[in-house]
Amino acid sequence: MQLYNTLSAKEREALIEEAGKDRLTISFYRYAHIGNPQIFRNYIFLAWDALEVLGRIYVAHEGINAQLSVPAENFEAFKAHLDSISFLENVRLNIAIEQDNKSFLKLKIKVRDKIVADGLNDDTFDVTDKGIHVGAEQFNELVEDPDTLLVDMRNHYESEIGHFKNAITPDVDTFRDSLDIIEKQLSGFKEDKKLVMYCTGGIRCEKASAYYKHKGFKQVYQLEGGIIDYTRQVKAKGLENKFMGKNFVFDQRRSERISDDIISNCHQCGEPCDTHVNCANEACHLLFIQCESCAAKMDYCCSEACKEIHALPEEVQKELRKGKTVSNKIFKKGRSEVLVYKKNPEQAVGTDFTSH
Ligand SMILES: [Zn+2]
Ligand SMILES: [Zn+2]
Repeated sequence: MQLYNTLSAKEREALIEEAGKDRLTISFYRYAHIGNPQIFRNYIFLAWDALEVLGRIYVAHEGINAQLSVPAENFEAFKAHLDSISFLENVRLNIAIEQDNKSFLKLKIKVRDKIVADGLNDDTFDVTDKGIHVGAEQFNELVEDPDTLLVDMRNHYESEIGHFKNAITPDVDTFRDSLDIIEKQLSGFKEDKKLVMYCTGGIRCEKASAYYKHKGFKQVYQLEGGIIDYTRQVKAKGLENKFMGKNFVFDQRRSERISDDIISNCHQCGEPCDTHVNCANEACHLLFIQCESCAAKMDYCCSEACKEIHALPEEVQKELRKGKTVSNKIFKKGRSEVLVYKKNPEQAVGTDFTSH
């Protein structure tokens, strides 16, 4: 999939031409102060529905986060509508041509408390007071600076299979944990170090950058467009790629390979491997790393116990699942006790915050 952004009028024209009758798949986010999210939601729903926009959009007091598709022939009108909203004028769009056109079947615009689930109850900081945005080229220079502290703002199972060289990768399950740990560990560097952050597409570290500025960090930077756009820029401009391994993504593909390095291990045998799977036992669904030979041996399950359940007839499995919730789904990504070679907090990369 090729990603585009900040297109010139000419490039837009070429893109629409190429798409023909297809739809363009677009994602964007913007932190802004929205006084009445419900009114704003209704306003954009009417306008976008008329343009046959489909997608999943979240609106909150703190801004908007959108994944959507629009018929190529309506793209110019859609862009014009975005530009007519003051805080969405020239917003950075990630655009791809969707071949199967079935990425979204409805237009769903929901009002939420937050556009990023951050667990923060702190209304005292301004999410729009963000850090300095840098592109791939400047990012590459910054990470070579001895005064830079490079921090991965994603969760442990994301950074485990891929991250930037020399990055601090907090061993956390949630964004909220990450915010706290980083602040505590780096509190001695607020004045003199450059805090440089990255995440998948930029939305998390944009909030983190505002939070850390609020907490007193003087020099805060973020990789604009995240790993996704970094990769695009590296290819387009022939820059050195400093990202090792795979970029974890939240769709069917699970990850995109960025470099040939395999930096993680099969959680069952310890061999180098960076393929995430979900345990085939529906009642478990644990996300973990499994190599092909373990997958064959374990029938795509995380443990002998799951393997036994998975081997039962579907009706029996359903009966067993009744009334039970799948707890591993959310809380134990890659961490269950059954996994021998799971990443250990003590072995976490970059826990020594001062060595860089
Ligand atoms: Zn294995
Ligand atoms: Zn399992």
